[in-house]
Amino acid sequence: MPHVPRVPGSPPLVAAIEAGGTKFVCAVGTGPGEGILARERFDTGSDPARLLDTIAAWFVAQQEVWGLIAALGVASFGPVDLDERSPTHGFITTTPKPGWQNADLLGSLRRALPRIPVGFDTDVNGAALGEGRWGAARELNDFLYVTVGTGIGGGAVAGGRVVHGLVHPEMGHIQMPRVPGDEFAGACPYHGRCWEGLCSGPAIAARAGIPAEDLPPDHPAWDATIRSMGHALATLTCVLSPRRIVLGGSVRKGGRLGEERFFTGVRRAFRETLAGYVLSPALDEHGINTFIVPPALGDDAGVCGAIALAHDAAGWRLSPTP
Ligand code: ZN
Repeated sequence: MPHVPRVPGSPPLVAAIEAGGTKFVCAVGTGPGEGILARERFDTGSDPARLLDTIAAWFVAQQEVWGLIAALGVASFGPVDLDERSPTHGFITTTPKPGWQNADLLGSLRRALPRIPVGFDTDVNGAALGEGRWGAARELNDFLYVTVGTGIGGGAVAGGRVVHGLVHPEMGHIQMPRVPGDEFAGACPYHGRCWEGLCSGPAIAARAGIPAEDLPPDHPAWDATIRSMGHALATLTCVLSPRRIVLGGSVRKGGRLGEERFFTGVRRAFRETLAGYVLSPALDEHGINTFIVPPALGDDAGVCGAIALAHDAAGWRLSPTP
């Protein structure tokens, strides 16, 4: 394979994995956009050992082309064991996904790319890091990244650090107030009407009887979803006082309603829920448009987050964050 000489002084090359329940996106690069030199998608499937051997071999082959990989970052679906002192650090733990219970995500990668720093975190924490470093939350030390898709998850950055705590936050499962007249029982198998049970893609489909992307713009399920989104984001704002909320995932694209109308509705519902109590110009009728925003890295937030995890693991402070 040809070896592409790297420019002296260019940022170190890292391996990045966005590990999702449907696909794994693997990349080699130095940062977002043109900084991603190579990428490949692999179906997640139900045989983790085989998949991870395939991915490890892909990275070794990329190393032949692009030069030495200096660090690895993995942003993964969960639940995952993030405790570095645990014997199962880097494992997927209790997922209902067939074949993936107690899967050793990092093992074969560590063997294929030995002696390099490894950063490992949840997919949403990774995406939060990526948006903070290169995207819609640049130069902010306090913000939230929330994704609303098949499920709902959130990563919080507070004081410039990703919040982990006991395990990791599970924002998608906060309890929600019942909107008057809304009898929907919710779709979460654990909690029924938690946020994920009301606003995830499958929850919208369960409520409406048709997939979210096919919902007509005037379908009442949109109004119910948007009001609940406003409640949830207002609750998180009361708890964490973020300076911005980056709202990613497929549901935020609004299907036939459109992304603009979806965001306008969520911003209005958010302000109605707070009822003028939290005072900041960031939350007034103009400021709100730059307070709840879509991701700037788009669908690359996850893989860029994995690159950021690799950078942090190696101790490189390439971040513009003060
Ligand atoms: Zn739940």
